[in-house]
Amino acid sequence: MNTKLKGKIVAIVGGGPGGLTLARLLQQRGIEVNVYERDVDEHARVQGAPLDLHDDSGIAALQQANLMDEFRQNYMPGADRMQIMDASAHVHFTDHHQKPIEDFGAQHFRPEIDRGVLRTMLVKSLKTDTIVWNSHFVAMQQSGNGWQLQFKNRAGIYADVVIGADGANSKIRPYLTNIGPFYSGITMIEGNIYNASQTAAAISSLLKGGKIMAFGNGYNILMGQKAGDAIGFYLSFNAPDGWVKQHGPDFGDRDAVKNWFVKTYHDWDPIWCQLFQQVDIPLIPRPIYCMPLNQAWPAQTNLTIIGDAAHVMPPFAGEGVNMAMKDALDVCNCLTDDTYETLQQSIAAYERMMRERASAAARESLLNGERMHSATALAHMLAFFAGLQEHALPGA
Ligand SMILES: Cc1cc2nc3c(=O)[nH]c(=O)nc-3n(C[C@H](O)[C@H](O)[C@H](O)COP(=O)(O)OP(=O)(O)OC[C@H]3O[C@@H](n4cnc5c(N)ncnc54)[C@H](O)[C@@H]3O)c2cc1C
Repeated sequence: MNTKLKGKIVAIVGGGPGGLTLARLLQQRGIEVNVYERDVDEHARVQGAPLDLHDDSGIAALQQANLMDEFRQNYMPGADRMQIMDASAHVHFTDHHQKPIEDFGAQHFRPEIDRGVLRTMLVKSLKTDTIVWNSHFVAMQQSGNGWQLQFKNRAGIYADVVIGADGANSKIRPYLTNIGPFYSGITMIEGNIYNASQTAAAISSLLKGGKIMAFGNGYNILMGQKAGDAIGFYLSFNAPDGWVKQHGPDFGDRDAVKNWFVKTYHDWDPIWCQLFQQVDIPLIPRPIYCMPLNQAWPAQTNLTIIGDAAHVMPPFAGEGVNMAMKDALDVCNCLTDDTYETLQQSIAAYERMMRERASAAARESLLNGERMHSATALAHMLAFFAGLQEHALPGA
């Protein structure tokens, strides 16, 4: 095992769930690895609603990383419980009464974890100084058999093998391919509410510590309980490319966003306006992109990408983080499997698996996105949840 990477310097660029999981897995196998992360330190606030981990991907990676005890201590029991509502906040579906709080080992148990908590858990699992914070990667050049990496705010470093885990706007990806993502036609606006039981009491009671998907006519609200009495929510709707700049409200102005909401979600119950009373500003506009499903590039000898850098996809099947962590698992296993004679063969094997798995997940995510933003979204999602209660549940 590990002979191909023995004595080699491995650099992972990006300390999101994909990069950190990979660092942990490689360290377990005795490989020297550093993670270069642009966040200033581990206390930087991690944005976004909680993440549900799936048995055969996110959970499988944590199992191999020997981190299931930590995960059990840190996940949010009951946060995976779902209510589906209409614009009037009338509940059409709920699984709050029948869904067990804990069901590890069951294929369709999808425990939720706060993004920040997951990051802290992974950071703690690494050897001291594995992560080099405040390292904003900008460019790299071939140097001997490896790469010389440059950062915005610190001296450059040499690495024999580089793995890009730097998310949807990856700066590593262009060294492999010039294939870029396409706009899905859906834009989301992210908001976070802190001390929600006090600052948004009615919404907090509605949420009941779980998740809500509310569907109006092509306009949706998706929200979930976060750690520490916080709520993360997304307004989600069809919008032309460029909508954020050309037509979006001033996302740094709470009242401007609320006024836009009242006008746009005009037939929604006033209870939803409470989302904006104390929402953290600026809200974050997120046009949703997807990599082409048939993307391919020649495998390199010393460079690959994982997670959103490889295959950003819409969040409507809850697969993004799970694919990133499964990539980490697969690339670690391929790089350390001596049945592949060269690093290039290991990378080629990983990239084949990754592409096949990620394009199936992206296809499902695009389809769910289309259905969730159609005129018949509520009926569709009710049928979906009724029919698939025993199968995969989409999460956003
Ligand atoms: C609105 C929205 C909702 C989502 N909801 C879900 C969901 O419910 N479930 C789910 O599974 N997925 C969801 N996703 C997707 C999920 O967030 C991603 O798939 C997942 O975070 C990918 O992990 P990653 O490690 O590949 O990248 P990221 O989480 O993006 O991490 C990349 C890391 O790289 C760092 N970085 C970036 N550029 C540089 C640079 N130049 N130099 C150094 N460091 C850099 C960043 O700071 C970051 O820490 C959602 C995404 C969006 C946009």
